[in-house]
Amino acid sequence: MAETRILLVEDEESLREAIKMNLEMEGYSVVEAATGGKAIKLAAKGKHDLIILDVMLPEVNGFDICEKIRLTDNKTPIIFLTAKHSISDRVEGLKRGADDYLSKPFNLEELLLRVKALLKRAKIVAAPQESLNIYYFGNNKINFNNSKATGTDGSEFELTVRELRLLNYLIRNKNKALSRQQILLFVWEYKDFPNTRTIDNFILNLRRHFEIDPTQPKHFRSVHGVGYMFSE
Ligand code: CA
Repeated sequence: MAETRILLVEDEESLREAIKMNLEMEGYSVVEAATGGKAIKLAAKGKHDLIILDVMLPEVNGFDICEKIRLTDNKTPIIFLTAKHSISDRVEGLKRGADDYLSKPFNLEELLLRVKALLKRAKIVAAPQESLNIYYFGNNKINFNNSKATGTDGSEFELTVRELRLLNYLIRNKNKALSRQQILLFVWEYKDFPNTRTIDNFILNLRRHFEIDPTQPKHFRSVHGVGYMFSE
């Protein structure tokens, strides 16, 4: 099996060393950066399986780094480390494209568990079960193997990790009404994520791609008082 490469961005040397040592003990290969500038350079040229990203950094902060990475890379899981506890910072991180969030001080054991969970999830998204490899509905096609989709207008485009997760979940629960909370729990895995409108925005986007008339959706329908339901 190929080695798992983790990019670790943290300016506090002692913490960086401790995290690095723990990751290496788990068998991961670690690439380090102590500044935002170096992190961007490394992220641009290296292929990493996961990125651990401090928020408060010299040169460029973690939020901006994450956003920059997400312009070209929607797949690599990103975990934020931050001293900040406020919900708005957590939301900010997730909005900018992070997959998970740990507040300092955190337990190294917990970080390792999150790393493991995210790597596992990334693999599931990259290679879902046989039956969902390529999925057709209406005039649309979704290729879960390479994250590419063809929408109603016939053009091919790339889906983000989160869109793939959402589609995967909706399709697997075809013709079943799913609440926003359920969707958040399974797709975002945040039980108390404060803003369910995030889902509404994702659904609007899917409709734009996959509905012949996005105002009269056939595939991604709203279920009044519940949430959403996917139908072929
Ligand atoms: Ca810092």
